[in-house]
Amino acid sequence: MTSPPSDLTADVVVVGAGAAGLSLAWRLAARPGVVPSVTLVEPPPGPVRSPERTWCFWEEEGGDFDDLLTASWSRMRVTARDGRTVTGEMPLPYKMLRSSRFIGELDARLERAPGVHRLTGTVTEIVDTPGGARVGGRDAGGRPFTLDARQVYDTRPPRRLPRARTTLLQHFRGWFVRTEQDRFDPGVAELMDLRVPQPPRGVAFVYVLPFGARTALIEYTQFTTAPLDDDGYEAALRHYTEVVRPLGAFTVTGAEQGLIPMTDGVFPRRTGRAVFPLGVAGGAVRPATGYAFAAIQRQTSALAAAHREGRMALPPRPHARRHLAMDAVMLRALAAGHVEGARFFEVLFARNPLPRVVGFLSGRTSLAEDLALGARCPVPPMVRSVAELPFLPRRACDLPRFPAAEPSGSGAVREPRPNR
Ligand SMILES: Cc1cc2nc3c(=O)[nH]c(=O)nc-3n(C[C@H](O)[C@H](O)[C@H](O)COP(=O)(O)OP(=O)(O)OC[C@H]3O[C@@H](n4cnc5c(N)ncnc54)[C@H](O)[C@@H]3O)c2cc1C
Repeated sequence: MTSPPSDLTADVVVVGAGAAGLSLAWRLAARPGVVPSVTLVEPPPGPVRSPERTWCFWEEEGGDFDDLLTASWSRMRVTARDGRTVTGEMPLPYKMLRSSRFIGELDARLERAPGVHRLTGTVTEIVDTPGGARVGGRDAGGRPFTLDARQVYDTRPPRRLPRARTTLLQHFRGWFVRTEQDRFDPGVAELMDLRVPQPPRGVAFVYVLPFGARTALIEYTQFTTAPLDDDGYEAALRHYTEVVRPLGAFTVTGAEQGLIPMTDGVFPRRTGRAVFPLGVAGGAVRPATGYAFAAIQRQTSALAAAHREGRMALPPRPHARRHLAMDAVMLRALAAGHVEGARFFEVLFARNPLPRVVGFLSGRTSLAEDLALGARCPVPPMVRSVAELPFLPRRACDLPRFPAAEPSGSGAVREPRPNR
């Protein structure tokens, strides 16, 4: 039986126009003359589309998106449960990019790019064909469409996680606040303030990313096995802003909420003959940290370079195997309660120089630095985890539906309201 002709053919179909999809399409289109034809598919506004979010990442000055940044910091601080702080210079700037700004700018750049076609639709299936793969779905009007491609990069966020020995969830809710008095040091990103009630297993902390002396993003975060409900996050943020770190009168000008899987499961790099998951779906999230944006940029740069050389491009591994192994040990120690999460991070930051910790968190450390870091963590719980890991079964895990006061939480702007 011959299949019906497709509505469109392209060298490359990119499914999803979020961080990974837009980055790849833009990088593929960035060299006029050698551009493969690209079709980028994104659902219409609605529940399938990823909500707005804020990406933070370490990167040298002169990055591709520096002109789009909301803020950037050169110093950071970690506050222990007893109030002691570690403050210092970071080896790389820590940058913040809002997804709305990124998407708006890349949409505009792609509009001018030759060879890039946009399609508004929801992809429902991707199947192998003799020449590559066929992508099927429904367009904004509900009509079915098909696209044939030599290669498909699929960035749809996964609902089911790969089988893993340990899966934790990084879940958080943040307030964008404006205070009436100066409360923040705009030069310092506060990566972890551990002075909040701790869960029995895992860790809870707040990070404070200031934009000015009176404006900041204050995000309450847990690495645990289940998200909180709306009231839980609101209570935690109130407790922090009223008791732990009283802000005085302030206004909440926006909110974001999110859930990121932290898993030692192995994400597939290929799901069909010419179908490659990318982004979160392709394992871009660093298990120990939840960071993915920088890895996505590394991967999409490498893919675009491979395409320019005419190679059929399998996404490169997003993270070094050694870092994934170290992350697996840390996740196990936290999830099993072998170490108090807060103590783990207090020791990590107190005993290691900041550049080394930041290097590790951003995937840039050498073997020697990793060994030094490992030796200056709480060692007995890590050794216990190493001994247990080979004997633990790998289990599949569905991502929980996130409590949605707003659709999937993140990005919804709350009406300004006085808090005190
Ligand atoms: C709230 C939040 C904050 C985060 N903050 C950071 C951070 O600070 N730093 C960091 O490094 N990482 C962060 N992450 C993790 C990661 O960087 C982001 O999730 C990032 O957006 C992942 O990029 P992606 O392209 O894989 O997924 P997305 O950006 O979610 O893109 C997926 C795309 O697929 C589309 N799509 C979905 N279903 C379909 C379908 N059926 N058909 C077609 N298209 C579809 C979506 O609309 C979306 O455009 C954060 C994650 C969240 C949720």
